[in-house]
Amino acid sequence: MRRCLLALCATLPACTVERYPGDEIGVYARGGMALDSVSFDQGVAVDVFANGQFVGPSSRPTTLIQNRGAYVRATWSIPDEWEPREIAAALELTQVDGTTSSEVRRRWIDGPGDLRYPDGAFDWFVPEEMMSPASSWRVALYETEGARIDLLPPPAHVLPRGGGPLGVLPGRHEIELVVVPIDHQFSGPMECEGPPEFGEARVQELYDYLARINPVEDVVITIREEPLVWTESAANLTKILDALSELRELDNAPPYVYYFGAIDPCDWGSTAGFAGLARVPDAPTREYAWKRVAVGDMRRPGHPSNETFVHEIGHTQGRRHVSCKGTEGNPVSDYPVELGKTGSFGFDHLRWAIQPPTHADYMSYCDPTWVGAYGWNQVRPVIQRLTSWKDRDEPSRATPDRVTLMISLYADGASKWWIRGGSASASASMRATWYDDSGDLVARPVAVHHSTGETTHLEVALDDLGTVPRTITLHADDAAPDAALATSLEGRVLHTPLDLRERRLGRAP
Ligand SMILES: [Zn+2]
Repeated sequence: MRRCLLALCATLPACTVERYPGDEIGVYARGGMALDSVSFDQGVAVDVFANGQFVGPSSRPTTLIQNRGAYVRATWSIPDEWEPREIAAALELTQVDGTTSSEVRRRWIDGPGDLRYPDGAFDWFVPEEMMSPASSWRVALYETEGARIDLLPPPAHVLPRGGGPLGVLPGRHEIELVVVPIDHQFSGPMECEGPPEFGEARVQELYDYLARINPVEDVVITIREEPLVWTESAANLTKILDALSELRELDNAPPYVYYFGAIDPCDWGSTAGFAGLARVPDAPTREYAWKRVAVGDMRRPGHPSNETFVHEIGHTQGRRHVSCKGTEGNPVSDYPVELGKTGSFGFDHLRWAIQPPTHADYMSYCDPTWVGAYGWNQVRPVIQRLTSWKDRDEPSRATPDRVTLMISLYADGASKWWIRGGSASASASMRATWYDDSGDLVARPVAVHHSTGETTHLEVALDDLGTVPRTITLHADDAAPDAALATSLEGRVLHTPLDLRERRLGRAP
C-alpha cells in the first residue's frame, strides 16, 4: 500500500502520493456530487457512512476489530445533469497519536456509485497495523488538476465528504487450535491409508480458511505429533469426539485451545453421511473446554475438507446450523436473512475478492458460503473471551482443585467413562447417589446434557481425591431443565468400569 504522512509530503517533493491535503487547498467535487457510503470490510462489510450520514459504532451491524486489515469502499451520488469527468477520492486515517496518513484514488465518473460493480466504488486497503482503537477516518471527493473549476456548478449544499471515529474495538482476537491426525485402523470397505498428513502447505490452507472467515488477527495451529489411534468404526463420530475430549485433558490443554481430529476413514465417516461432527458448548466457559472438540473427514487436501474444518470449528465456538437447504439439523430460529444468505458483502483476504451478499452462511449446508454480521456477532465475543484467558497467562491445571467424572451414554447402549480436572458445568439437573467405603450415602449433583451425535453426557462432581464409586444411581431434581431427559434417566443404575474404579488421578490414596 502506498502510504505517505501528510507532514512529510509537505516538505518532500519526491513523495509519490498525490495530495489533496485539505479544505483550504483542495477543491471539493462540484456539481452536486455527494459521498453516499463508506464501508470498512474485514470479512463482513461494515458501513461507517450510509445514505450520506455517519453511522456510529453502536448503530453498525457488527464490530471492527484491531490488527486486522480492512478493505474500504466508498460510493457517491451525482445529479442527472452530471458532466462526466475524473474525480479524486482521498481516504485519511488519523491515529490516536495524531499521525495522519492519506491515500488518493482517481476514477472516471459517469454514473452513480454501485457496490455490485468493480468500478462502482473508490477502494483502498488499510493494513492491519492501522486498524487501531481511537483512530478516525475521513473520505472526501475532489476535482482533479486541470478541471475547469470556473465552468463547473458549485458543490452540493452538503460537501462531498464524511468522517468520524472508526470505532475499532480494543482487545485481541486469536484462535489457537491443535490438529490431531487420527490413525484409523479398522477393517472397512475402504483401504486404511493412515492418518492425513499435514505439511507446511496444508497447515497454511487451514490457517487461511479459518482466518479469512473469523474475526481474528491471528490463528495459531499446532499439529499433534502423536496421532490418535482409532480402532473402531468411524461411523459413530461422537465416540471420536469423546476420545478427543479425553485427549485434550491428558495433554493438559489450556481451556482456550480447540482440538480438531483429522481422519482419513477406512469406513464411511458417519452413519448420517456427514463429513464431520463437533460439540457445541452451551457457553464460552472454562467448564466447557471439553466441548471444544471437532472431527472432520480430511482424506484429501483442498476446498471441501477445508470448508468442513471451518464449519466444525464454528460449532465449537457455539454456533448452530443456519437453515439453507432445509436438511440442516437443529437450525437457529432467529437467523435474520432469508434463505440463510449472509446479506452483506464480505472481503476475502485469501482470494483478495469481494464475496457477494447472496452467499449462504457457512453454518448451512449450501455452497458457496461466507459469513455475515450474524455469524460474526456470535463468534467474536467467544474468540475475544478465550483470547483474554490466554493473554492473562493462566497457569495450566497441573493440580486441578476439582475433579469431574464424565460418563458418555451412546445411542447404541455403549458408554465411556473418563475423568477430567475442573468443575462440572453449572447446569446440574440430576443427583447421583452411592455409598462410600464406610457405608454412608453420598449424593452429588449431576449435569446432564444432550450432546451432538445422540450422546448423553453426565458430569458428576467427585471429592478431592477423585474417588470413583462402584455404582451410581441417578435421581431427577424437581426442576430439571430437560424434564424428558431427566425422567428417562430416573432411577438408572450405572456400573463403573473396572479399570476406573481404583483410579485416583495418580494421587496418593
Ligand atoms: Zn454442522
